[in-house]
Amino acid sequence: MSSSNPQIINSDCIVIGGNITGLIIATILQRRGIKVTLLDQCRDIGGRLATRRISQEKSIEGVFDSGIQYLSVKNPQFQVWVDDWLKHKVIKEWCQGFGEVDGKPRYCGINGMSEIAKYLAKNLDVHTSTKIIEFSYEKKWLIGTQSERQYQGDMLAMTSPIPESLSLLDASFIPLPLEIRFSLEQIEYDSCIVVLALLEKPSNIPAPGGISLEDDSLVWLADNHQKGISPDGYAITLLATPKFSDYYWDSDDVEIVYKLVTAAADYLDSPVIKYQVHRWRYSSPKTFYNESCLGLLELPLVMAGDAFVDPTLEGSVMSGMAAGELICQRFRVY
Ligand SMILES: Cc1cc2nc3c(=O)[nH]c(=O)nc-3n(C[C@H](O)[C@H](O)[C@H](O)COP(=O)(O)OP(=O)(O)OC[C@H]3O[C@@H](n4cnc5c(N)ncnc54)[C@H](O)[C@@H]3O)c2cc1C
Repeated sequence: MSSSNPQIINSDCIVIGGNITGLIIATILQRRGIKVTLLDQCRDIGGRLATRRISQEKSIEGVFDSGIQYLSVKNPQFQVWVDDWLKHKVIKEWCQGFGEVDGKPRYCGINGMSEIAKYLAKNLDVHTSTKIIEFSYEKKWLIGTQSERQYQGDMLAMTSPIPESLSLLDASFIPLPLEIRFSLEQIEYDSCIVVLALLEKPSNIPAPGGISLEDDSLVWLADNHQKGISPDGYAITLLATPKFSDYYWDSDDVEIVYKLVTAAADYLDSPVIKYQVHRWRYSSPKTFYNESCLGLLELPLVMAGDAFVDPTLEGSVMSGMAAGELICQRFRVY
């Protein structure tokens, strides 16, 4: 890559991923005065924090959480973020259990889960529709994208799913120490096919509008109308099992929708008027790295994400916090 390109944007730290992990890292750095730029390949920020819309007529719009469905809290450090989101009316309590009430709050975005990402991104320098294709390091990182624009920074944080991060490192000819590379290669993910179905009539899904299933094909159904994010449409999210998702990954959408809607028929009890299918290749890590983030000693490079802690929003935030602190230490900002 040539650094003579006039379109170079400079930062102290470049973060790959406008997802929850990347946004937490960037928030921590910005609070300590470190200049940070986030880059994401997608048009919308959030990664697996995703909310989609399907319109039928002017008056009918379904709003669906197509990735994460809700969050809950175990760790007091995570509770601090959650309290802030509650205070600023980004999230609300959905319920205290599905089927059985266990007194443990489950929270959801007031207007969908992607609101959390939008809220965190409000005062950050986020560049969407910016796919990183390679990078190089010579005193500084030079990050190449699909557009003419390049980004330069002293530190690089990668928060994409591990296989994607490894592919990027390979494309950039950046070797990792063998032991670390081996550990990262052991991390595997389940895939998940999601169907978003807009119904003609209300569903039969019991209150509060979410149900876990022990089925061959379906693992979860959510009624986004009951959840409160889809006031003008009966919007149902259907999550397929990893087994179904692997088997039908390359099948056409009509077949997938037919199979999953048939399997959920007892809970739907209404014609589907419109649908979308979303395929999450890296939905949920099955194996994990043995530290909350990875900081290389050889290079100013940090990696983080849910595969470093656990497969939840909380796990991603905890990993992002660890990575943010590590980067601050490297900049000697405390
Ligand atoms: C269907 C589904 C249901 C879930 N349900 C729950 C739930 O109920 N509760 C819960 O706590 N968790 C749930 N999760 C898990 C939760 O969503 C994740 O743990 C969390 O969002 C992971 O975030 P992350 O920051 O690690 O990465 P991701 O959100 O995966 O973000 C990775 C980002 O990297 C970007 N990227 C990748 N490559 C490049 C590149 N080359 N250039 C630029 N950008 C790039 C991507 O665009 C993406 O934005 C669910 C996930 C899925 C898919």
